[in-house]
Amino acid sequence: MDASTRFADEQRALLVERSRWLLAFGVLFFPANIPLDHIVAPDIASRVLVVRLGLVVAFALFLGATYTSVGRHFIRAVSVAFALLASLGFAVCTFLHTGFDSTYVVGIMLVMLGSCFSLPWRLGPAAVFCAVSTVGYLGLNLVGHGWSDTGLAWVAFLLGSGSVASLATHLNARGRQWQFDQREELAQAKAELEALGEARTRFFANVSHELRTPLMLILGPLEDLLEDQPGDAVFASMWSNGVRLQRQVEMLLDLACLEVGRLESRPARADLGDVLEGLVEAARPHAERSGIDLVVIGLDELPASLLDPEQIETVAGNLLSNALKFTPEGGRVVVEASASGEMMWFEVRDTGVGIAPDEIERIFDRFHRARGATAPGTGLGLALTCELVELNGGRITARSVEGEGSAFRVVLPYRPVTMDVVHAREQTVEVEVSAGSTRLEALLSDAGGRTVKEEHGTAPADAPHILLVEDNADLRAFVVGQLSRTYRGEHRLGWRRGAAPNP
Ligand code: ADP
Repeated sequence: MDASTRFADEQRALLVERSRWLLAFGVLFFPANIPLDHIVAPDIASRVLVVRLGLVVAFALFLGATYTSVGRHFIRAVSVAFALLASLGFAVCTFLHTGFDSTYVVGIMLVMLGSCFSLPWRLGPAAVFCAVSTVGYLGLNLVGHGWSDTGLAWVAFLLGSGSVASLATHLNARGRQWQFDQREELAQAKAELEALGEARTRFFANVSHELRTPLMLILGPLEDLLEDQPGDAVFASMWSNGVRLQRQVEMLLDLACLEVGRLESRPARADLGDVLEGLVEAARPHAERSGIDLVVIGLDELPASLLDPEQIETVAGNLLSNALKFTPEGGRVVVEASASGEMMWFEVRDTGVGIAPDEIERIFDRFHRARGATAPGTGLGLALTCELVELNGGRITARSVEGEGSAFRVVLPYRPVTMDVVHAREQTVEVEVSAGSTRLEALLSDAGGRTVKEEHGTAPADAPHILLVEDNADLRAFVVGQLSRTYRGEHRLGWRRGAAPNP
């Protein structure tokens, strides 16, 4: 359906609605004024009554017609007809009364203004209606009563009212057209935006998918190599960076799936305490290396519940890795959990750098990283975390004091375990949860304190001097290895997070 047809349909529907209001008003208004006739024109009150009742019956019939498909189809003609009938009805009253001296002429003006202001007509029908009403009034009274000067004055008034009413109709019609065009433009922009969003999501999904396969083909053989040579730092670095890349790709894929509603929560029997414990254990070596006190509270007191353990593990893993990333040496990270009634919650809090009050609202936005975020990252983790929590019927809140630390609390519904789901999902859970812990280890390996050995070559004493500044430990080790045979080097291993390197 093209825009002009849509506009015509919309206008017709509006005209039907307004006509019904006016007709219903007419059905009530005309009888309500019967007592007035006995005051203004007692001699002809009975004949005016016949006109009034005739109009009421006609309005009722017109009203009925607006509920038929034919009536709705010809609503323009119908609306002009009933408006004309009303104005001519008043013209008949002036004719029955004293001709051009009769005050019933005011009724014609009221009908003109009322119809043109409330009915969504165009200029043509409005002008015809006003002209016919005026000519009807003039003709009837000329024939019945002859010319008088008052008649000239009233005709001039009627012509004036008709012109104002027609102009208003025209301006209203233009206004409606303008509003319609604006809505059309907005709808088109929205559709384009949605199409763009879908294309972007598809693109992300395709790219992520295309990246996953080669990554798996790289990581699989690397794992075999690491099994044969467990101490090889280069293989270890390649593997942990590969897993990090895989995690970022999976985050993008999950977000893309969430956007098109293709990511679902698959509840299974799981022990939230075990999931959190597994993550904490995976993170402990990193915490020890970084001098962070990692504490758990209440993890062994949680009941088994129905939840999607992989998704909840991703949530907790993101919060835990952030807490460790943004907490300096000597700090403390606490993972606490509890259950009460129909809810259970866990909280990851730290004594880290904290988040500024004006940033806290935005940290759940995609790609948003707080001002001066010192640790590496993409700004995707919390966005995915938030969406996964909501997908599991929970909610996440953050509180933070800049310079003192942050706390992220996830509240989840406690769902008692039913046996059917348990059988269906038990196998998968085991495999994928352990994969999540591995991913956490890999993620944390980037947050500083990597143990990749830096190979130093033997550059001649007079070789140029190079200062290398790089916060990624693996990349630093790699570049040092490459340059140290040709240049004399100086590098600073892992300066304190939050402090700018002093070159
Ligand atoms: P990323 O960590 O990859 O940058 P996230 O979405 O996980 O992305 O986090 C978004 C931002 O929120 C981070 O860049 C950081 O500025 C801030 N943030 C998240 N967790 C913490 C925390 N525990 N302490 C301080 N800042 C945090």
